[in-house]
Amino acid sequence: MKFKILKKLIVLCLILIFIINLPIPVKCEESTSKQKVIYLTFDDGPAGKVTDDILTILKKENVPATFFLIGEQIKNQENLVKRIYYEGHSLGLHSMTHKKSNLYRSNKDFLKEMLDTQELIYSTVGIKPNILRFPFGCNNTNYKICDSMIDLLHENNLKIYDWNVDSGDGAHHSAAPSTFIKNSKSEKDRVILLMHCSYISKNSVKALPQIIKYYKDNDYEFKAIDSNTPEEYHIIK
Ligand SMILES: [Zn+2]
Repeated sequence: MKFKILKKLIVLCLILIFIINLPIPVKCEESTSKQKVIYLTFDDGPAGKVTDDILTILKKENVPATFFLIGEQIKNQENLVKRIYYEGHSLGLHSMTHKKSNLYRSNKDFLKEMLDTQELIYSTVGIKPNILRFPFGCNNTNYKICDSMIDLLHENNLKIYDWNVDSGDGAHHSAAPSTFIKNSKSEKDRVILLMHCSYISKNSVKALPQIIKYYKDNDYEFKAIDSNTPEEYHIIK
């Protein structure tokens, strides 16, 4: 009889030891989840009040962006280029003329326009940007990017950045700001958002605060493109 009680006690003890040693579930923070990144990019500046207004919004919201500049527009707007640079944004190359007929005649013509723009920016703020965006994109109605162009640009230490989300403000600059906001919302881990800061991009200015709010609300980190940012382009065979 006594032995039976002892046996029960031992079993009970073993159960207790087992329960005590059970790991306590701990709620872990999602430390392994990747940080989502948004690169706001503005093409076709510097362009007077619109570019200036965009800079004011970026300053208020305390977020960096990237500006792909047209060389021919820099003259008499040097102070605007300086403002972009001194407020912590990236400067990129977007050709001298922004004309398809000039740019896509040959690789050499394209490269020359980019290097001329680089030189102009250098004489304005003292840095030589080596990030560039193809006017109308790497693959447009007149041109498709090819290996020989990529090699030529890389040999000249230039890096290529298309976009992977389009606000739509280039094709339809006077569309409602709500359309640009809707187009700009993405759930990708890495968003390179195409926007414009040209003279006609007034509705982009109106859309920008809500676009920034969306990405802040969704825990994205805002970054400016620099030469360490992985390139973005696709070759269409
Ligand atoms: Zn452009």
